[in-house]
Order: sequence, then structure tokens, then C-alpha cells
Amino acid sequence: MSMVKASAYSEEEIADIKAKYQEMITFCGTLSEYDRKRLDSAFELAFTQHEGTRRKSGEPYIYHPIAVARIVAEEIGGLDVTSIICALLHDVVEDTPITLDYIEKHFSQNVSKIIDGLTKITGFFEKRNLANKTAENLRKLLLTLGEDIRVILIKLADRLHNMRTLNSMPEKKQLTIASETLFLYAPLAHRLGLYRIKSELEDLAMKYTEKDLYKDIATKLQNTKKLREDYIAAFIAPIVERLPKIGVNKFRVFGRPKHIYSIAQKIKHKEVPFEEIYDLFAIRIIIDVPQADEKSICWNVYAMVSDLYNPNPDRLRDWIASPRSNGYESLHTTVMGPNGKWVEVQIRSERMDMVAEKGIAAHWKYKGGKNEGKFDKWLEKVHELLTEKSENAIEWLNSFRHELYESEIFVYTPKGEMKFFPAGASVLDFAFDIHTDLGCSCIGAKIDGKLQPISYKLKNGDQIEVLTNKKQTPSEQWLNFTVTSRARSKIKSFLQNERRIVAESGKEMLERKLRSLKINYSQNVINELVHYFRFSDSLDFLYAIASETFDLNELKNIKFNGEEIDYSQKGKKPIPIDDGEIQLKGDEIAASDISIFGGFADRVDFSIANCCKPVSGDEVFGFVTIGKGIRIHRTDCPNARQLITEYPYRVVSVKWGKSASDPLFLASLRINGIDDIGLVNKITNIISGELKINMRSISLNARDGIFEGEIHIFIKDNMQLKQLTKKLKEVEGVYSVNRIN
Ligand code: MN
Repeated sequence: MSMVKASAYSEEEIADIKAKYQEMITFCGTLSEYDRKRLDSAFELAFTQHEGTRRKSGEPYIYHPIAVARIVAEEIGGLDVTSIICALLHDVVEDTPITLDYIEKHFSQNVSKIIDGLTKITGFFEKRNLANKTAENLRKLLLTLGEDIRVILIKLADRLHNMRTLNSMPEKKQLTIASETLFLYAPLAHRLGLYRIKSELEDLAMKYTEKDLYKDIATKLQNTKKLREDYIAAFIAPIVERLPKIGVNKFRVFGRPKHIYSIAQKIKHKEVPFEEIYDLFAIRIIIDVPQADEKSICWNVYAMVSDLYNPNPDRLRDWIASPRSNGYESLHTTVMGPNGKWVEVQIRSERMDMVAEKGIAAHWKYKGGKNEGKFDKWLEKVHELLTEKSENAIEWLNSFRHELYESEIFVYTPKGEMKFFPAGASVLDFAFDIHTDLGCSCIGAKIDGKLQPISYKLKNGDQIEVLTNKKQTPSEQWLNFTVTSRARSKIKSFLQNERRIVAESGKEMLERKLRSLKINYSQNVINELVHYFRFSDSLDFLYAIASETFDLNELKNIKFNGEEIDYSQKGKKPIPIDDGEIQLKGDEIAASDISIFGGFADRVDFSIANCCKPVSGDEVFGFVTIGKGIRIHRTDCPNARQLITEYPYRVVSVKWGKSASDPLFLASLRINGIDDIGLVNKITNIISGELKINMRSISLNARDGIFEGEIHIFIKDNMQLKQLTKKLKEVEGVYSVNRIN
């Protein structure tokens, strides 16, 4: 091929690029001559257009589209040649002079449509600017889901490759991309049934958001590998021996380790130490049998396994009789294995395993955007949700995410129609799902003959008859017990109307204030102020004024030049959009840094976020708040992902500095164990005596021989906290010590 200017890449690189492309082709299955030609010309176009450009890592840019195409072909699977062509071309319109018209002429209308979708998403995410409202754009992105799901699948492949190569990005970028991945892309992959990709995305992201914990678990997994493998081998030996005896001759049995992120979730949420997590792995039995027999044979296998090991009846999950709406089918049971250990066993056919690993695409031949069954229904619902008007996009996104991630329950209408809801859905969610009017006037329900309140949480198999009253109206409280995005957006749009009425009085207050400051009141002036103080819109701003969460005296510091804010004043610039890096020096920030944050104060304030209480040495980022300086959060703060995804431009890198007067940080530990005389003494001795740490408070409760306590202490940094945790764990009787927020 004569497409390369000699200077752009070295000969080795060109040979390597060609080899990588050929390798990718081997995952595309058997290709017709026509398809092969289309692929080659897509590659050629991508190559010539990206020629000479390189990724942050230094490698030729074309590596990226080839890698994305390979993920689409190899790891997602089930997609057509068009998808692979689009993957190869996904950055061409964005980054080069090539137009969509050109793509349409040289490839097809489908190809250009998908690339248009992909380009828009890229615009929303990676190249967004201040004016872009991320959440609103997320919604537009998800709208493409309903139109052509290939856009989302290719975007996931793109994100996966970017995550795999995130190492060469600057630190702040790593944090924002990783947070966004956890906030949105992993849930999307989950919902689409791409479990393997979801797990990898989570693990890759965690490497950047929770470095320490990630390393800790990875090391422990490595250290316990041999033990685990021996155990698995002993556990599966009798299964392998018996399978042929029940007529199953083609099968695979293996132990599959849980991914690091899911282990971390367990450690954090259940507060159990790594050593006590019993399901670090699951056993998978995959049988190769005709589809017609798979259901009955799976149950035969279950009977055989529960004959060998005692099953826990509470943990039997039959996803074969009622598959999850993303298509997942499997039989799960937990049995008592050797040495008194609970072991999860998953039984499924090869076909089911394919669906479970590669998602809906695996058993779904793409036919012009149509697909059958439950998944299609889900897409329909998504589309409906997306086209609905809701005022606060990030709120909307949150409830949408909930639906992406949560497990599902099914219930029945009075007529016996089956409906799916995320776990935790209430009578209200059900009512709104049927009709908005029904939701707004719902006062309760009759469920299986019994009267239940609107807050009643639906259970599998409930049959629900909604009760209404014309006088009923939605209230703020309703948001506390609804989880579906549909119900929540309907309730909110109702409340929003009421909010508008409150905002009216804010308008009057603002008008008066501006008059006293001799500034004209106009929509332009309001827009300037909304932008300056970073409200999402004027309604938000006026509401904040009316509810006095915004102090009108802040306006005194602003000078207007006609209808525009005069930024020329010394130190009065809007907050930096990017690349603000400051050094935290104990409790002071060097004066030279002030200019960056001049929009708010003469001196940069920072404060420690209450939600995650970082201490010196923790991995942190700064978040620019409205009027309250910079707040320091831990990178694994439960609020962090949303903050970063919603306002990436407000994130600043901060580093802990050294200071002469070391400030102290308040930290809290939860500790539990077996009650023992003198235990409190031992604990306080370590804290105040041995380590000379100041305690603010300690409370220990003992019940029936078990104690649980909380200790609040002032510490220097997280090294000291780690040291203390370690010492406390060594005390006899202490079972776990965990940092709490
Ligand atoms: Mn890309």
C-alpha cells in the first residue's frame, strides 16, 4: 500500500500497524470479498487521516481505532461488519477534515449515522467545555441507545481501550475519566449484559480512584492464590467425576475469581475483612447440551451438586425460569463446601454462558435496530424516559443509573400482566409506571387483598391494585420512596412548578438588590450572574435567592460594565476551567496561587469535605464550590463520582503540602469484636498512651458479649491512622477496625 508518507512513522511502526490490523481481521469471522474490501478501505482512510498523529503514550494514533475495532469484534461479538468499520473510523470525523457526507458517499448512510452518534458523544465527554452541561448531554447520549445501540456498544469499546491505556494521561484526567467510567459506563455495560467488560472497567477505574485498596486486595489475592486453587480443585473433583454419570459428557467446570472492585465493595459495605469474605470465587459448571434440553439438565446438575454438598435454600436463584431483562440466564446456588466454607455454584449451558459473558449482542443478530423480547421492552422504556422532559438532568441521571444497576423484581397488574421494576420500587413507582395521573393521585394500593401505603416496597409476585383520590398531590417526600426515573421525573416536574412560584419572589429580591447597586435588571444581567456563580440555570439561581441559600451580598463584589460583568478588576476572574493545580500547605495556600481562584475571594479558602473527611496523605482532589472556596474530597468519596461527572471543570488537583504547624484532622474508626474485661482500657492505652493521639470521643456498646464502638480522634495524617488501625487489630478480641465517614 502506498498510503504512507515516509516521514510520519518508522518502518517498524508501519509493519506493526499492518500486523495489528491483520490480527484484528482474524476476529471478524468469515468475511465476504465485499466486506473485506469495505474494511480495508475503512482502515486505509483511518490510517491516512490519523497519519503522523500520536497518542499521549507516544504510539501512533491508529493503534487506538484498531484496538477498538478488535474489542468490538473479539470481546463484544455478535456485531456486524458495519460496526467494525465504524469502530475503525470512530475518530475520523472528530479529529480530521473528513466529513460525514464523505463517509456516507464512500461507505453507507448507516456508517455515517453511527459515526455521527459517536462523534457527538465524544464531543460531550472528552472535549466538553464549560458551557456544556454534562448531565443534559448524557441524556442526549443515551438517546442514541434507543436509535442505534451499536453507537453505545462501540462507545463502550472505545472507553474500555481508553481505560486500558489511561496510564499515560495526566493525573487529573485519570481521575475524571475513571470516575465517569464508574458513574456511567460500568452501569451501562452491566445493563447491556456485558459483564466481563463491566468488571474490567470497574477494576481499571478503581486503580485510579482507590489506588491503595486496589493494591492491597490485588496483593492479598496473589498471596492466597495457591490455597484457593487447591480448594477449588478439591471442590470440583467429585463434580467432574459425577457429571458423566448423569448423562452430561461435554462440560467445563472451573473456579472463577471475583473481580477486585466487587471484593472491595464487600469489604467497604459489609465491613468484613478480606480474610472473611467467603465468596472470593464462584464455581461455574457449563454444560454443552442441545437448547431444548438445557433447562432440565441444568436442574439435574443442581440435584447432583446438592447431593454432594448441602445447599443453602435461601440462596437459590433461578434466572432460567425468569431471566434478567438483559438476557442473563443461569442457575445459582450456594452450598457448604469442605472445611465449612460456603461456595457459590453457577450452573448454565454454553449458550447461556455466551449471553452472560458477551451480553445481549451475543445472541442477537443485528437486524436494522430491532431485537426481540424483554431487552427490546427495556430499550423502549429507556427511549420513553429519555424523551421525557425533566428539569434537573443529573437527578434524572441518578435515577436512571439506579435502574441500570439494581437487581430486578417482577409484579403483576390486576389483569395479570407481568411488569419489571428495580428492587426497592414502591407502590408509587408502580402507579406512575401505569399512568402519570394514576401516580399523582395515588393514596395506596391493595396488594394480595391487603391495604398497603404508597411507600410499600414491592415484592416479587405481588399483584397490585392502585387506589386513588382526586385530592391527592405529590410532595417532596415522595422522592424518598420512589426509585424509577419515570416516577421521580414526574414528581419532580410537579414540584418544579411549585418551585417556579417560589422563584418568583427571588426575582423580586434580586431586582431590589440590583436597583440598590445601580445595576439594570435584565435577562442578560441574570444570565451573567448565573454563569458567574455557577448555577445551572436562572430558576436555580432565583430559587436559591428566595430560599436564602444564596446571599445577595455577594453581588457587592461584582462590578458591571453595562450588562456584562467586568472581569478586568484585579483578582476578579471567573474560576479556572482547567489545569488549576494548587499546593495545600497545611492550612494555608501560598499567595501566588490566589490569582487562579480570584473569582471568589482575595484569598483561597479550602475546607475538608464532611462527607469523606480526608486526612493528610489520603488521595484527594479539590472541588471548587460556590462562594465557599475549595473543598477537599477523597478520590473514593461516595459523592466524588457524581461531582466529577457533573462538574469536571470544577475539579482541581491538589497535593498535600508540608507545613511547619501540622494541622490535625478528625478521623473516625468503627471497631468491633468480642467483649472482654479491660478491652476499653487496652484500646485507650494504645490511642492515648502508646501513640499519643488525641481522642475527641469514644463510645463502645456491648451486647450479649459482642461490642461495637466508634472512636473519633485527631490525627496528623493517614500514616498515623494506618498505624493505629494496625495496632488496634492486634488487640485480642478485636475483630475488625474500619475507617468510617
Ligand atoms: Mn476513541
